[in-house]
Amino acid sequence: MRRAAPALEAALAQLEAAQLRRTRVTVRQRADAARTLTLADGRELVDFSSNDYLGLARHPALARAMSACAAGAGAGSGASHLITGHGAEHDRLEEELAEFTHRERALLFSTGYMANLAVMTALAGRGERALLDRLCHASLIDGARLSGATLARYRHADAGDAARLAEADPGHTVLLATDGVFSMDGDLAPLPALARCARAHDLWLVVDDAHGLGVIGASGGGVLEHYGLGSEAVPVLVGTLGKAFGSFGAFVAGSAALIEFLIQKARTYLYTTALPQPVAAATRAALALIRQESGRRERLAALIARFRAAAAAAAVPLAPSATPIQPIVLGSAAAALAAQRQLAAAGFWVVAIRPPTVPPGSARLRVTLSAAHTEAQVDALAEQLGSACRAARSAARSA
Ligand code: PMP
Repeated sequence: MRRAAPALEAALAQLEAAQLRRTRVTVRQRADAARTLTLADGRELVDFSSNDYLGLARHPALARAMSACAAGAGAGSGASHLITGHGAEHDRLEEELAEFTHRERALLFSTGYMANLAVMTALAGRGERALLDRLCHASLIDGARLSGATLARYRHADAGDAARLAEADPGHTVLLATDGVFSMDGDLAPLPALARCARAHDLWLVVDDAHGLGVIGASGGGVLEHYGLGSEAVPVLVGTLGKAFGSFGAFVAGSAALIEFLIQKARTYLYTTALPQPVAAATRAALALIRQESGRRERLAALIARFRAAAAAAAVPLAPSATPIQPIVLGSAAAALAAQRQLAAAGFWVVAIRPPTVPPGSARLRVTLSAAHTEAQVDALAEQLGSACRAARSAARSA
């Protein structure tokens, strides 16, 4: 039955009452070097919430590559990859991504969300079972649901629990999926132990390294490089291009057979317009910078260390994260929103993350750092977070 408009309004009012209604802000302008956002209401804020970890999104090399490609190829692809939408720029980028990830082939997708739906639905199905970390990204969970397989969630970052679940139903369990870097917590999946579990139980191991590629590992190879794992240990690697790469889109990298299978079977590949070639050209420019220049990664690592030291000195309750994702868990949605407002008043844009994005009772501020931030910005944020956390603690005491 169609839901009447009043029912939708009542549902929205309920979200509002629980402080779970989301709002979006319109960014009128971005100033690159200072990483400042000007919002439509005129406020100027330093952005500590974007996934542009290396500061490449506004790098002139990406914009140049994009417009040079658009001059020849045009803006839109005009069709899906298997009709006439697939171009030379896609081929080049796929080859370069395969080389970068040390795999036989890579396949481009329009978004990471679609890449994860593709992988999960291609590798698991009805009558089978997929194991996922409890804190996996929504797109892995949705992909598992769409596949028709039974979904079993193991305790966060607990390979022993994954093995226990695999042993409980050996005949049906076919796949184990995890984020490489957890998007709301910033911690790393215990990949060596998960790879041992997958090997022992003959499971596909799928790693979504959306937040690790480009950022972690000496050459930006992500969590796999960090742990020294190759394609035998992790046969299915998903990467996104809208975060450290500063561009847009995603890819799956793996064996030639895996990629060919996805081309044949993945509905989020087959039934959608190909990513615009200028976007692929921008990504190629980003990849070249990521491969040639390690300075951004080094600078980011130094800023992460600086932030953690300054925040600890200001008694900010940090989570154990060594990545640019630095959550500060405050508990209630109300506390996280109040802290967001206080930081915005002080000139910092740090978005409160609330359920269902994170488990109930663990609403948080999710600070993300970028190589483009300045030391002064990072120090000032840590100080303001100290006072926002003190305010949250005293509000909780008097509540
Ligand atoms: N995986 C993870 C871990 C993510 O954090 C995200 C984006 N937030 C995605 C996949 C989806 O990527 P995209 O934004 O390209 O759809």
